Amino acid sequence: VAIAVTRERRDGETRCALTPETVKKLTALGATVTVEAGTGLGSSIPDADYAAAGATVAPDTKAALAGADVLLKVRGPTAQETSALRPGAVVVALLDAYREKETVAALAGAGVTAFAMEFVPRITRAQVMDALSSQANLAGYRAVIEAAYAYGKGFPMMMTAAGTVAAAKVFVMGAGVAGLQAVATARRLGAVVTATDVRPASKEQVESLGAKFVAVEDEEFRAAETAGGYAKPMSPEYQAKQAELTASHIVKQDVVVTTALIPGRPAPRLVTAAHVASMKPGSVIVDLAIDNGGNVEGAKAGEVATTPNGVKIVGWTNMAGRIAADASALYARNLVAFTGLLVKDGALAVDLEDDILRAAAVTHGGAVVHEGVRG
Ligand code: NAD
Repeated sequence: VAIAVTRERRDGETRCALTPETVKKLTALGATVTVEAGTGLGSSIPDADYAAAGATVAPDTKAALAGADVLLKVRGPTAQETSALRPGAVVVALLDAYREKETVAALAGAGVTAFAMEFVPRITRAQVMDALSSQANLAGYRAVIEAAYAYGKGFPMMMTAAGTVAAAKVFVMGAGVAGLQAVATARRLGAVVTATDVRPASKEQVESLGAKFVAVEDEEFRAAETAGGYAKPMSPEYQAKQAELTASHIVKQDVVVTTALIPGRPAPRLVTAAHVASMKPGSVIVDLAIDNGGNVEGAKAGEVATTPNGVKIVGWTNMAGRIAADASALYARNLVAFTGLLVKDGALAVDLEDDILRAAAVTHGGAVVHEGVRG
């Protein structure tokens, strides 16, 4: 099987789909790997390292895709990449398939079988392929580092001869994979940490990291987790109670990190302009949900916005891309595990009866086969 990796072309995408370590793993499976020149630069991987690992380095996209059975990417392929693939070829990427309608239509039109890494089901067998988790974990870490950088005070309590520096109060909203790593990172830096979520299972996880759990714990809260482990959209009544609790809590915080998402929907609005206006000058908010519309009113994608009352709202997109070398290393391992499902005895063999492949398939045989994306 011929596997190709091309340079990422989306604005600001620093990550890459394979690393030299994973090239070796794929060639051990019997694959040949071609990597477009410059693929690893954003992750500090020179072309020569891919070559040393056994890949062919191709000078451009066209050469990289010639004869490819499988194209591995971080983000969805460009129209040019898709049109260079043969019908029946396979693309695996974080397609963002609910929103990237044009990319999906082009892949279907080209007869390509496309798999979205974001749709890999969260079952035990697929944990090693769970790219949402591998990237969210790093994004949660980096969000706190960005917050600490933007905050004009320290995180830990420090007792010095010149007096005591108070610990920062950090509030993490949304305690999934990214939020829990944000809690852990803020704790490591010495902050006093609280966290909230709508899924009851998150309470114990937050507490096990030494943070305090703060949430509206009513009937609806107790039923808010789907079978897949995700949050449900909450009722307007719940949201009103949640906003009230947020209002009384946020006013005492120095740093807020928001991570709340609901699959297939815009991110819930958790922090209003009034909440932001109630915070002290110098406070920092990091909106990790910005790629999905944001949790915070006034957050601007790709910017640090400063409000009239002196609160900084960090709206960096693609937070995992700010820790690109590690993000690429983990994503590439997720991809190699996934690719293992597509290869039998060294040849491409796509079996859509496999429950992981079926869940992740977006296009196949000239059509959009994913129900959620089609509907
Ligand atoms: P996510 O990225 O979809 O959402 C982030 C968090 O935001 C979630 O915890 C969600 O409950 C929360 N949220 C949504 N609406 C909210 C609101 N109105 N207020 C506050 N919080 C809100 O979620 P995720 O990080 O992908 O993880 C979801 C769950 O899946 C977690 O329990 C995680 O541990 C679990 N998980 C399981 C597996 C597995 O079993 N293989 C793998 C990964 C994650």
